Amino acid sequence: MKKIKVARRGRKCKHPSCRITLSVYNHGCFCCMHQNKANIEADTK
Ligand SMILES: [Zn+2]
Repeated sequence: MKKIKVARRGRKCKHPSCRITLSVYNHGCFCCMHQNKANIEADTK
């Protein structure tokens, strides 16, 4: 069985109004929803 590297548990999305706890498989600072939004905003700038 392969060991999957996971992030620390209990991290929260960094979006100010978001209280989603990030998955241990999400190594970013935002939940998947806000991660996508951040990417879109970066593209339009
Ligand atoms: Zn979020």
